[in-house]
Amino acid sequence: NSFMELNLSRPMLRACEALGYHKPTPIQAACIPLALTGRDICGSAITGSGKTAAFTLPVLERLLFRPKRLNAIRVLVLTPTRELAAQVHSMIEKLAQFTDIRCCLVVGGLSTKMQEVALRSMPDIVVATPGRMIDHLRNSKSVGLEDLAVLILDEADRLLELGFSAEIRELVRVCPKRRQTMLFSATMTEEIDELIKLSLTKPLRLSA
Ligand code: AMP
Repeated sequence: NSFMELNLSRPMLRACEALGYHKPTPIQAACIPLALTGRDICGSAITGSGKTAAFTLPVLERLLFRPKRLNAIRVLVLTPTRELAAQVHSMIEKLAQFTDIRCCLVVGGLSTKMQEVALRSMPDIVVATPGRMIDHLRNSKSVGLEDLAVLILDEADRLLELGFSAEIRELVRVCPKRRQTMLFSATMTEEIDELIKLSLTKPLRLSA
């Protein structure tokens, strides 16, 4: 049971090694091979389970081998709070340290202007809170989701608890229909099920 067996490329394996990850956590062992097939996934997973690397490693693998078009976001990670967004962003930068994949943080409370500059510099991955992401999409012609390959809904239960349902629906609507979507949630409620129906296609269900 090692990262080597999960079909990840050298830059990702080096990053795991540099971070001192010796073996995949249960959610990583379950999620990574399935995510690499491109299927939609919904996972019951709490913070501390290693879910961030579980979705990031297959996403990096996909970005590394699919050339991007100019000026387009390839992966959008939506998180409920600024703090979580900052944590996820920092984790992604660590896992991507041996690639040239770039990740930018888009949250309330930081300068909109600086984020706009960061978004225009063509990051591959954007980690955002829903409200601020929508502001940028509405106000800036240079920021679009038309080339998005992967959408991640992280801590979906908290996204809904914090009242982001309408924002998520709006963002899902502007994403391309053909994409991979992964949703993670500590709890699976009826509301989450509705969100899954709205945003995922034939998802595989994982729990760890
Ligand atoms: P997360 O659940 O994604 O918030 O991750 C919780 C913590 O576990 C983070 O500090 C990660 O750096 C760490 N972590 C993630 N995957 C592994 C792993 N395979 N081995 C050891 N630590 C890990």
